[in-house]
Amino acid sequence: MRADMDIKFLSGVGEKRASLLATELGIKTVGDLLHHYPHRYIDRTKVYRIASLSEENATSYVQLRGRIIGKAFLGEGRKQRLSATLADSTGQIELVWFQQIKWVEKQLEVGREYLILGKPTFFGSKPNMVHPEVETVEKFLSRGNLGMQGVYSTTERLSSIGLASKGLYSLVCTLWENIKDSIVETLPEGLVSRLDLLSRREALQNIHFPTSPQMLQRAIYRLKFEELFGAQLGILSVKAGRTTLKNGFLFPRVGELFHDFYENHLPFSLTGAQKRVIKEIRHDCVSGHQMNRLLQGDVGSGKTLVALMAMLLASDNGYQSCMMAPTEILARQHYASISKMLKGTSCEGRVAVLTGSTKTRERREILERTLSGEVQILVGTHALIEDRVKFDNLGLVVIDEQHRFGVEQRAKLWTKNSQPPHILVMTATPIPRTLAMTLYGDLEVSVIDEMPAGRKPIKTYHLKESLRLKINGFLKQEIAKGRQVYVVYPLIKESEAMDYQNLYDGFEHITQEFPLPEYKVGALHGKMSPEDKAEAMRLFAEGVNNILVATSVIEVGVDVPNATVIVIESAERFGLSQLHQLRGRVGRGGNQSFCLLVSGDNISRDAEARLSAMVETNDGFALSELDLKLRGAGDVNGTRQSGEALDLRIASLSTDGQILEQARLIASTILNDDPTLAKNENRTLATLRDAYKPKSSIDYGMIS
Ligand code: ADP
Ligand code: MG
Repeated sequence: MRADMDIKFLSGVGEKRASLLATELGIKTVGDLLHHYPHRYIDRTKVYRIASLSEENATSYVQLRGRIIGKAFLGEGRKQRLSATLADSTGQIELVWFQQIKWVEKQLEVGREYLILGKPTFFGSKPNMVHPEVETVEKFLSRGNLGMQGVYSTTERLSSIGLASKGLYSLVCTLWENIKDSIVETLPEGLVSRLDLLSRREALQNIHFPTSPQMLQRAIYRLKFEELFGAQLGILSVKAGRTTLKNGFLFPRVGELFHDFYENHLPFSLTGAQKRVIKEIRHDCVSGHQMNRLLQGDVGSGKTLVALMAMLLASDNGYQSCMMAPTEILARQHYASISKMLKGTSCEGRVAVLTGSTKTRERREILERTLSGEVQILVGTHALIEDRVKFDNLGLVVIDEQHRFGVEQRAKLWTKNSQPPHILVMTATPIPRTLAMTLYGDLEVSVIDEMPAGRKPIKTYHLKESLRLKINGFLKQEIAKGRQVYVVYPLIKESEAMDYQNLYDGFEHITQEFPLPEYKVGALHGKMSPEDKAEAMRLFAEGVNNILVATSVIEVGVDVPNATVIVIESAERFGLSQLHQLRGRVGRGGNQSFCLLVSGDNISRDAEARLSAMVETNDGFALSELDLKLRGAGDVNGTRQSGEALDLRIASLSTDGQILEQARLIASTILNDDPTLAKNENRTLATLRDAYKPKSSIDYGMIS
C-alpha cells in the first residue's frame, strides 16, 4: 500500500468517514493516518482485579479480565439499556450501555472471557462501568500487541460515526497490516546506526503499538529527530541555494545622502551595536547576493534608525525602499519620525505613507509618485503588498516587527522588482533559539545588544489592586514633572465585551481622578476609526495629553520618549512576552521610567511567576527563555503555530531544543559536503528535504 492512497479506500473507511476525517483531522491519505500518532497510551499489561476497585482508582481507565456471566435489556423505550455482569475470581461488576445496545449485545457471549477497558463508578459499594470497551481475550491476543495501547485524539463528530479513539485505533491496526512492508527508510543507513536510531519502520510500529516503554521513547525520539532534521535540511538548503545565486542588487556607493544625514542630521551618535549592524548590512549589499537579514534588538534599542540608514544607502545607489509595519499607528509613526529626520536632506518630501485607510485621491497620487521613482521611501502597512503598489526600482524591503506578518504576505513584497530586493526583517520579540533556528534558520542574523547611552533601566513593580490610591498619587507626581503616562487594559477576543467595559470604566475613573483642565486624558483602542486613532496618537506623541488609556494596540513599536510610566491593568492576564513589549513603550528617553503591573489580590502561581520575573529583569531574552519554561509545550511566541506551519506532528519547537540542535548540526555538516544532496548515500535525504522545504522559499525571490 502506498502512503499517498486516498484514505477512503482503506478497509473500514469509505466515502462518509473519509470526508469527515479530512475536515475534522486533516487526514486525507493513509499516510496522514499513519502519522496521526497517539497522544497517550493505556498500559494493557496491567489487569485490575474487580475486588481491588475502589472509589480511589475510580477516575482513571482500568482494564479488567473476566467472563460475562449474564446479560439483559433493562428499562423501556428510549430509556432502555443493556446490562451485563462480568466476573473474575475476586468479584463482579455491572457493565452498562445506553447506546447501540442491540449491536453491543450481539458481541457479548455469556461464558466467554473478555478484556474490558473503562472507568469504574460506584453506586454505594457496587462497582459499575458505563460504555466500556470490550474485546475477547482471543482477539486481543491475536493482535500480537500486548503492551501499551494508543489513545488517539479525535472529535465529537468523528466519535458519532464510530471513530472515537478506539475506532481510529482499529483503522490504524488495519492500515499497519497493509502498509508495514512498504515503509521506506528516509535516513541514510550510516546515520541511523551512528545515532543508534530505530529504523523508520520500527519507529512507526512502536509509536502506534509500543512493545515496551523504552521502545516507545526510542520511537518518539526517532520521529522527532526525523521531523526536525527534515526541517533543517529544508531551510538550510534554501539558504545554500540563495547564497550560490549572484542576483543581489549592488549598493557600492556610500553617497551624499547617507553622509549628509550621518554628519548633519543625526540627532545623536550611533551606538556601537548600531554601527556594527549598519556595517553588516553594507557588507551584504555589495556581496552580489541578495541580503536576507534578521535584525534582533530589544525594545528601544534603536532598530528604526538602522533601517533608515540602510534605506538611505539604497537611495544613494538609485534604489527605492519600502518599510512595512504591522499596524497603522506604527506605520504613521515611522512615517512621521523618518520625515522629520530627513528634513533638510535631499530626501526631504520624498517619503510617503500608505495604509488601508489612505483616501483614494491621496492613494492614487502616492502610487504614481512611487511608480515614477519620486518617492524614495514608502512606509506602510500590509497595504504595501497589494498588486497595484508598483515601484520604479525597489531595492530594499524593511519589515518591522516581522512576527506579525504571515509568510505569504512577506513573499509578495519580494517580487516587486525584476530581481529580489534586499530584505531586512526586524523584530524586538526575543525569539527562543529553537524557533529562530527553524523559522529564520536561513537568514543571517544581526543583534543590537546595546542600548543607547544614558538610558536608565526601567523600574518595575508589581502592585495589588488595593494600592490604587498610591498609584494615582505617583502618576500625579510624574505628570507634575512634565512626563506622560500609558494605562493599558487587556483585550482578549473571548471576553471582548467585558474587556471593553473595563476599559471604559477605567477611562471614566481616570478622568475623574485626573480632571480637566489640569489633566488631559486620551483613549486609544481597536474600535476607533483610523482617523481617531491617528489623532489620539498624535495628541499623546506631541505631549498635549498627559495620559493615554489604551488596549494593547500600543504593544509594538510605539515611540514616545517623554512617556515614563506605563500602568498595566489586570497584568496577570497578559503573557510574558506581551508584558515585556508593553513595558518597552517607556524607558525610551533619558528619564527614569517605571512600569507598574497592577493585578488582583489573588492570582495564579503562573501569573505570580510571570509578574515577579518582570520585576526581576529587563532582559527580553532571559524572559523569553523563562516563558518557554513556564509554558512548556504551550505556545510561546507562536512556536506552536510555527510548528504546525512546518508540518511538525510530534516534535515541539519549545521543548525539543536539544534534538533540534543535533539535527541542525548534522544537517549542516551533510549540506556542506553535498549541498544538493546528489551523492548516492544522501539520496533519500533529498526526498526528506523536499518534504520539509519551507513553504516560504518563494520568500527569497528565487528569480534567477
Ligand atoms: P526599537 O528598536 O524598539 O524599534 P526605536 O528605533 O523606536 O527602537 O528607538 C527607540 C528610541 O531611541 C527612539 O526614540 C530613537 O530615536 C532613539 N534612539 C535610537 N538610536 C539612538 C541612539 N544611538 N542614541 C540615542 N537615542 C537613540
Ligand atoms: Mg521599533
